Amino acid sequence: MSQAHIIPHFIQGQRQAGAGSRSSAVYNPATGQQTGTLPLADAAEVNAAVAAGKAAFPAWAATSPLRRSRVLFKFRELLDANADRLADQITAEHGKTHSDALGEVARGLEVVEFACGIPQLLKGEFNENVGGGINATSMRQPLGVVAGITPFNFPAMVPLWMAPIAIACGNAFVLKPSERDPSSSLLLADWFKQAGLPDGIFNVVHGDKVAVDTLLAHPDIKAVSFVGSTPIAKYIYETGAHHGKRVQALGGAKNHMVVMPDADLEQVADALMGAGYGSAGERCMAISVAVAVGDGTADALVAKLKPRVAALKIGNGQQPGMDMGPLITREHRARVKGYVDLGVQEGAALVVDGRDHVVAGSEEGFFLGGCLFDHVTADMRIYKEEIFGPVLVIVRARDYEHALQLVNDHEYGNGTAIFTRDGDAAREFTQRVQVGMVGVNVPIPVPSAYHSFGGWKASLFGDQHVYGPEGVRFYTRLKAIAERWPTSIRAGAQFVMPTNGG
Ligand code: NAD
Repeated sequence: MSQAHIIPHFIQGQRQAGAGSRSSAVYNPATGQQTGTLPLADAAEVNAAVAAGKAAFPAWAATSPLRRSRVLFKFRELLDANADRLADQITAEHGKTHSDALGEVARGLEVVEFACGIPQLLKGEFNENVGGGINATSMRQPLGVVAGITPFNFPAMVPLWMAPIAIACGNAFVLKPSERDPSSSLLLADWFKQAGLPDGIFNVVHGDKVAVDTLLAHPDIKAVSFVGSTPIAKYIYETGAHHGKRVQALGGAKNHMVVMPDADLEQVADALMGAGYGSAGERCMAISVAVAVGDGTADALVAKLKPRVAALKIGNGQQPGMDMGPLITREHRARVKGYVDLGVQEGAALVVDGRDHVVAGSEEGFFLGGCLFDHVTADMRIYKEEIFGPVLVIVRARDYEHALQLVNDHEYGNGTAIFTRDGDAAREFTQRVQVGMVGVNVPIPVPSAYHSFGGWKASLFGDQHVYGPEGVRFYTRLKAIAERWPTSIRAGAQFVMPTNGG
């Protein structure tokens, strides 16, 4: 018997039961049991959230940045004090291990800390006497109500990439979290309220395409931040832009790690285990392709990886000591398993086969064992497509140029890494690689909160990366002001185009 509870929306500072007729099920992926029933918002509920934001926006935008940052300081304290509780919630609906969930919370917290500095970040520019006694100022102002549409794989961190900065800048925010693990967003809503955020500035509406399409077409939504898969990111970008909105839409990934012959292979194997199989491979910055330069490198790497992959500790993420938990849904596990079947059909060598892995006592959980492929080639679908599971593929490159070409020819350009002791190769790589986030002996180069996060090519649609300085630019618009306060000067009416000649 499932003990599924009804998960509410959060609108105008209140948890609210869904009013529509549609709902979806939320599971604990480690047990396979339904734990929640999620209302899927209809247009009226989305409109109510946007209206709450619109009503609260003018007063919040007029609140000084210093006061706004004080609310964020309080929110930061609540988030930090409750990190363990939030991590429990993440694990319960997503499945990742508790320690990994704590890492997710820590990365979200960093963004809140960055947003606390908003008075400094919102400083404008000023030029005295650009000509004719005119002083020029440029300032950045909030947009209004903005929306965030987020994926399942970081149910707390990705909303925290967006909302703290949007709110610090003076906007109201409507979050449409993933319908697979929606409850973390409600804890964030509670803590925003406790921190003193006015009602209506942070709202959560649960839903699917109906809710998303309502947000995309809503005239009072001024900007949309999206993180999810590439086909949906492209759709969000095109539809939002069609409706005149500012859009940043981050998509999928197939991140390559180039392993040079001079790399420390023990270090590489450790890095690949964490980056390939951590969070069961369900990270947009996971390494899913290892490009070994030279057959000798590939043979030695496979020898090191094979026993490690076979020995992965897989189980309920609440149990201490696990390396990875289950996949998000039964359907997703079947999809990932299907890719492993496909790789075998395509002729790749399946070195470790985790398809039949069973976790004793959790037979109904959505678990899959770690899988490792060798001799994968660039024409195979398991190389070209994002699998988003615990499946690492090894491609053998002839030399460095071949390895770089593989990375640059790939459709996705989210993250990449090179492992080497050669500074010259590393510098060359960072300059020429066509990818948004690059690590040198760093397997998961997620930028810190005061830089900005974003991929290239099919991994991002839009102009601005998320959080950091680009986040502040995304959630504000520029206003330029020319001011002159003449005393007794009278130049007479000017009928020619004004110039700055003095
Ligand atoms: P998804 O694209 O299925 O869903 C993302 C969001 O879009 C969810 O809120 C969902 O409700 C909504 N959505 C889904 N289908 C829709 C439709 N047809 N119309 C409108 N909205 C729709 O992604 P997911 O499975 O939740 O997350 C995994 C994906 O996210 C992977 O591809 C991963 O690479 C990507 N991701 C990318 C980044 C990044 O920074 N680039 C970060 C995290 C995840």
